Amino acid sequence: MLLFVTLEFTYTLLGTEHMPEKGVNSTFKKIVYESSEMVFLADDTYPYTIFYGNELFEKEIGDKLEQRNLVGLGLDVNSYIFKEELVLEVKENEYSFSLELPHENESNYFLFYHGKPLEANETPTKAEAIEYVRSNPDAIIIGEFDFITFLNATALNKIGFKYEELVNTSPINLIHPEDQKSFNKVWKKAKEAQSTEEATARFQTKENSFVSLDLKISFSGERFFITTFTKQAVHIINPADAVQNRLIQSSADLAEVGKWEYDSEANSFQLDEIARQMLELPKVVKLDKKKIDKPIRSAFKSLVKGFTKNDQGETYLELIAPKKFKVAWEHYMVDLNQKKIAGIVWNDTTIQEAKSELDFFQTLFMDSLEAMILLTESGLVRLINSEAKKLFDFDESNSPKFLEDFSPFVLDDEPVKSWIENPTIEGVEILTSIKNHQGDALNLAIKSKRIASNRETCIVVSFRNVTEKISLERSLEDSTEFLMNLTDQVPGGLYQMVLSAEGEIRFAFLSKGIRSVLGISSEEAQSLKDIGTAMSNVHPQDLPNVIMTSVASARKLEPWLCQFRVKIGDSGEYRWVLGAARPQTLDTGDMVWYGYLTDISQQKEFEEKLDEAKKAAEKANQIKSDFLSMISHELRTPLNAISGSVYSLLQESPTDYQKNALNTINFAVDNLIIMINDLLDFQKIEAGKLHMENASFNLSELLNQIIKGLTFHARDSKNKLQLDLDPRLDLLVKGDKTRMSQVLNNLITNALKFTDRGIVAVKVNLLSKSDQKVRVYFEVLDNGIGIAKEDQSKIFDDFDQVKPTFNKKYGGTGLGLSITKKLLSIMGSEIHLESEVGVGSKFYFEIDMTLANEEEGPRTILPLKPVLPEKLHLLMAEDNEVNALVLGKIISKWGHTYDRVVNGLEAVAAMDDPTKYNCVLMDIQMPEMNGFDATKAIKAKFEIPVIALTAAAKLEIMEQIQECGFDGFVAKPIDAAELHDVIKEVVGKYHSRS
Ligand code: ADP
Repeated sequence: MLLFVTLEFTYTLLGTEHMPEKGVNSTFKKIVYESSEMVFLADDTYPYTIFYGNELFEKEIGDKLEQRNLVGLGLDVNSYIFKEELVLEVKENEYSFSLELPHENESNYFLFYHGKPLEANETPTKAEAIEYVRSNPDAIIIGEFDFITFLNATALNKIGFKYEELVNTSPINLIHPEDQKSFNKVWKKAKEAQSTEEATARFQTKENSFVSLDLKISFSGERFFITTFTKQAVHIINPADAVQNRLIQSSADLAEVGKWEYDSEANSFQLDEIARQMLELPKVVKLDKKKIDKPIRSAFKSLVKGFTKNDQGETYLELIAPKKFKVAWEHYMVDLNQKKIAGIVWNDTTIQEAKSELDFFQTLFMDSLEAMILLTESGLVRLINSEAKKLFDFDESNSPKFLEDFSPFVLDDEPVKSWIENPTIEGVEILTSIKNHQGDALNLAIKSKRIASNRETCIVVSFRNVTEKISLERSLEDSTEFLMNLTDQVPGGLYQMVLSAEGEIRFAFLSKGIRSVLGISSEEAQSLKDIGTAMSNVHPQDLPNVIMTSVASARKLEPWLCQFRVKIGDSGEYRWVLGAARPQTLDTGDMVWYGYLTDISQQKEFEEKLDEAKKAAEKANQIKSDFLSMISHELRTPLNAISGSVYSLLQESPTDYQKNALNTINFAVDNLIIMINDLLDFQKIEAGKLHMENASFNLSELLNQIIKGLTFHARDSKNKLQLDLDPRLDLLVKGDKTRMSQVLNNLITNALKFTDRGIVAVKVNLLSKSDQKVRVYFEVLDNGIGIAKEDQSKIFDDFDQVKPTFNKKYGGTGLGLSITKKLLSIMGSEIHLESEVGVGSKFYFEIDMTLANEEEGPRTILPLKPVLPEKLHLLMAEDNEVNALVLGKIISKWGHTYDRVVNGLEAVAAMDDPTKYNCVLMDIQMPEMNGFDATKAIKAKFEIPVIALTAAAKLEIMEQIQECGFDGFVAKPIDAAELHDVIKEVVGKYHSRS
């Protein structure tokens, strides 16, 4: 800075009478005068007259001036207060000057010095710049600190004030109070950063209204420049609009909104079209009173209910009929003193409806069956529905506020943020496991979706509890694994064979086990899938069976089971396998067999051995049986002799002593015979060779016969034998009469045996009768020694006696009851026992019998009473001398005669005159020709009764006896009375026929 005040000038050149008054000394003048640059001085008072200029100045500028003052130069001195340099424009030429301002007590003039013409360059000339600023269509306001120093014409036009009214005032005064805060912020920023910033603010106009302007504020040092620019076309906003729009924005945007404005001067309401229609009022409503609330009331007279204030402090006017409207309003500033009212009105019913619809959708969300939460994009939880609460076990106290609040529940490393990371990818689920508040570990499948409305964008996250599904999947995996394991580990192999609807057969599945069963590699197993290859491995001998059984299985849809041999690898050897499968028809028409193959070679080997053993056992059994039958025959022959002899001796009037001894012998022999018969029967049953007859017989007749047969025995044992027979049982039934008698005989004999001077009661009742069948109850009751509880089950066992073996007193083998039980079981019945020691025993059973037709009835019961000749002549075929002797004696005793032959051949030969004999008594076992063959031969030629006499157990030879045509049968040793009966019967039959 040039400090002229400190300079000592020597005045040499110039001097006028004015100068000393101005405080300019001559030295200074001289310097000025001689300066090679332009210098001039001007008064410090209006109009700032240029009172001195040097030669250069006068030449360049002074001479051209019309007014020799600063105003004439177009200089506004005040605007240069802080400037030391300035540009002067004179007649389109620019000159730069330095300026020294007047100083108090020192100088009272402005000193312009260093004046020189400005070189022209690319920048506009000052004149150009000034012109540009002045006539700019944008408003330009310039100032320093915060005082306006310049406004261009556009600026003044826009706000309507005069230059003088605004210069040296702060621009902030012009800004609408509501915009001041934001304006200040921008202002400060531009100042601090020495930059250009943008702002929009409402400027007050001279007319007390506001004009909204888009502004650029720039700072250069302390100097500011405010320019309007046309971001948008500069527009004047109706302040009422602004209020109304703000109200609309802050109120529910769900309904149609009408606008209204209150004009206090006109004292009227202006309604827009929507408001007018909504409220059914004229466009302009004139009011009576000036107060604000009152006019509103009167404007909406018929509609007003009252005023309410909402949470935001906004006042609502609630209207009544015909609909419920709400009104919101706000005062706004017209100018700094005066306020107006603008507001909106909307149909609250519509909002209520919308709200209830909103409520409905919210409820829908909250009560949705799927667990869901609604988040803002920043992760704020907006809603959490009840299922989600349940899932995480949230309640009011621990409800999550942010997505992050879910983090503590997550068990795996998946961050919760990932839940909403890909919200737009449809169907993508994130699987995560969580532990909820209750500590339950759950597997969740999470999906999210971004939902954008015109209000905001949200993310909905849904959770699906897949714990059960996952555990099911796991258990399915486990069980599949288990099944695969099972399939692989079971001995043998499993397969699935498919017969397609087209007739093609293949193995769809072969388990590993198949390889070891067939002794093949996995490659070979693969080739086996082809049925042809598989079949070629089957033994040629077994192939037909395999094919036939398979075809049958397919036809009848029945399980397939087949044993066959298959080739083992390349060894050429075969192995026995068992194949089994179950067929199933599929919906496709295909047929599927699920089956297995198992190696049975060991079993086969075992079976073979078993078969051999069985044959051996059968052979041994046969030998045993043969031996038994031989030995019993051998035993019976001498017994027969003894029995016969005793019988003869008893006829010879023995002494009492002899009679006693003879009876003892008889008893012993009888016992021995029973024993032998029992043994033989037992052996038969055991060997399964028992043949049951199915002939007709009369039930009551049979029972009477049995009782009659035992009468002697009863008398002998000093017991009373009673028969209580149901009269309805005089029936013909089919069955084995002999076996039936054997059962009853056994039971009655036992009862007589184990009862001393008591009663043995036999009871037979008809239980039921149908067309075909009868059910009969049999009971043998005694009051003998009884059987202890512990022995009751044992006595039916083989060889079991309560008192062991060959009980001296009672005799027996212990086989009787065992045989009885077995026989009854063959007949489909079961024996029962009730007994008490010292009281007696009751054996009973029920049996079903088939009824026989009358025609089928046995000839024995033909009502014909045979009339027999007094004397019979018999042919006796008997090889054994003793037997022949005994039998001969018996025959003679009856007063009959006989001829004896010693073998079958002789017997046949003796038939040369068949009329000679009334009957043939035929022994079975004889040399030359046995009794069977001889009888056949006789029967082939002649009609003569033949009675078989045999020591062999009846069972064995029964069939043969029937085959050969014997008419009767008497077991050895011969019971004379029985033989007599049989002879009478058969001869009588023939006699009656002839
Ligand atoms: P046994 O040939 O010895 O009679 P059983 O099988 O007929 O053989 O009888 C077996 C045993 O059952 C007999 O030894 C006897 O002890 C007992 N028992 C059978 N019936 C009677 C009965 N009516 N009273 C008492 N005991 C009986």
